Amino acid sequence: MKKALILLMLVVPVLVSAQGRARNVVLVIADAGGLGTLTAASLHATGTSRGLFVQSLPHVGLSDTSTASQIVTDSAAGMTAIVTGQKTHNGVISQAADTVKGQADGTALKTILEYAEQHGLSTGLVTNDSLYGATPAALYAHANDRAQSAVIFRQAFAPRFGDGVDVMIGPGRAALTRSLAAAGTSLEALSSGAGRPIHGSLAEVPADARRAIVLLDSSAFDIQEAALAAQKILARNKKGYFLMVEGDTHTDNVRQGLDRMVALDKAVAALSKVIGRDTLLVFTADHSFDLALRAGRLGAPLLEGLEAEQARAEEEKRRNIRIPTIRMDNGHTGEPVMVAATGPGAERVRGYMRNTDIFGVMLQAFGWRADDAPSGRQ
Ligand SMILES: [Zn+2]
Repeated sequence: MKKALILLMLVVPVLVSAQGRARNVVLVIADAGGLGTLTAASLHATGTSRGLFVQSLPHVGLSDTSTASQIVTDSAAGMTAIVTGQKTHNGVISQAADTVKGQADGTALKTILEYAEQHGLSTGLVTNDSLYGATPAALYAHANDRAQSAVIFRQAFAPRFGDGVDVMIGPGRAALTRSLAAAGTSLEALSSGAGRPIHGSLAEVPADARRAIVLLDSSAFDIQEAALAAQKILARNKKGYFLMVEGDTHTDNVRQGLDRMVALDKAVAALSKVIGRDTLLVFTADHSFDLALRAGRLGAPLLEGLEAEQARAEEEKRRNIRIPTIRMDNGHTGEPVMVAATGPGAERVRGYMRNTDIFGVMLQAFGWRADDAPSGRQ
């Protein structure tokens, strides 16, 4: 009895501290992965409406997705809110609401990735959109217009904190080559200037790498393989890491969007097996998309008639889709999205949150305080 008590006294503080702080944070963004898309992907893949791994995460909340000025967000303002804790306007990359899009820079907002760099952690991002796309860009760049791809990507090589993003894996090589040329520079110049190779495939990354940039030609790669590779590299830093994984789940192409949500879900399940108990895993969407479930029988194929309807839509030059089970009107929508989490600090994901609250969840899990937070006494 006494022995058991002593053992308990030794174990409890360890458990408490392990629960309190996260060594690592993994943020997974289903871009445009609203509740309609999430549910449809589950039905499409499993025949049930809650069959995805992310639907089994223990802590769940809803997140409002409005911007500083608009009801419906784009990926730039949406991701800025999630990774800086402050809302801005559509099109703006991690600059405050004093920005005039495309015309005048606003106040640069410090991102969760920059906090991690400042604290000596390793940082990384994986995306099947593009490395200079609004979602990853909001982590490492500050720009008054998401369209400035050369301006944005160059900032990955001129970090404000630490040594900048350690791992970047994603497509966009052709478009980036063109926009860098138009800006009077090149991938080669960025690479040699920073002393960092820009690889063309995962296979080129050295086995013991602690940093890696992989710029792919196409979005048709295995996101699970890429996410696991990034995690493995980042986990070599004993201080910890921050990793963001983005899956493009826009359902303007319904089947591709749902398949990508299923692939992202599998990647999250695989990540959850390797990240360890000292890692906070957060899954959310930057905004929803106008896809709704209309009818249908549980267990029946969800997308019957889709290809014929797509052919009709193309012929009639319309961008919406109507099949018995699904209505898709091509665009972002403003309703809340799911936030789900597990690991240290995940209990702060609950209720009807602001998208900016997700930044605080991650920052507090690391045990850090925002630079502009009140210093305690008030
Ligand atoms: Zn988006």
